[in-house]
Amino acid sequence: MSGNLGYSDNPVLSDSGYHVHDGERPQPRVITPGVTGTPTTAGQAPSDAFVLFDGADISGWIGRDGEAAQWTVEDGYIQVKPGTGDIETAAKFGKCQLHLEFASPVEVKGNGQGRGNSGVFLMGQYEIQVLDCHENPTYPDGTTGGIYGQYPPLVNACRKPGEWQTYDIIWTPPVFDGDNLVSPAYVTVLLNGIVLHYHQPLQGPTQHRNLAEYKPHPSVGPLKLQDHGDLVRFRNIWYRPIGTYDTP
Ligand code: MG
Repeated sequence: MSGNLGYSDNPVLSDSGYHVHDGERPQPRVITPGVTGTPTTAGQAPSDAFVLFDGADISGWIGRDGEAAQWTVEDGYIQVKPGTGDIETAAKFGKCQLHLEFASPVEVKGNGQGRGNSGVFLMGQYEIQVLDCHENPTYPDGTTGGIYGQYPPLVNACRKPGEWQTYDIIWTPPVFDGDNLVSPAYVTVLLNGIVLHYHQPLQGPTQHRNLAEYKPHPSVGPLKLQDHGDLVRFRNIWYRPIGTYDTP
């Protein structure tokens, strides 16, 4: 074979065993890419996503003490119900692309960490901060999009309170061999399409006023959203496992 559809007489790529421009290499899967949410319009998940919240159903979420999640569901979003505790997915997953949309409370109350605080906890323990950081200074590693307590976001790309914002997060779990850390977790985070972290290694699970330290845990975990007492909203939550080449 030689031409537009591929070649079988080119050199072989050592990592895959395929020829350069090999026409026999599996075609990438075709998916429908979905729609990104905007400040006024909800997004839609791509066709191959695992949907964690579709705007109406929270039966896949667990609240305090393993009970059903108690947060408020209305108008296509879930909203923190203060005092009912964090919620997490029954689904557990590892390396992935995660998307969600959130909005800070329309009514601006409090300052610093007390304004529109919530959080996106990857594997239930690594927090990407959710806060209303529109004209609301706080400590940098607690800014919206911060890897809480470890790294501030590269920029503050927050929208105004009440406006919907998008998180796109690419997550690589840490790898353990027994009690030993083989590879740290890595995260890439985009807020409203802006890169806040690029393949940043984490120091360990999120701590408050303390240093992080890895402790071995399973290779999959839930997504957890934080009840920090503020009326933060979430919608259009989904993930896609990150696959490997040539496995359509
Ligand atoms: Mg938080």
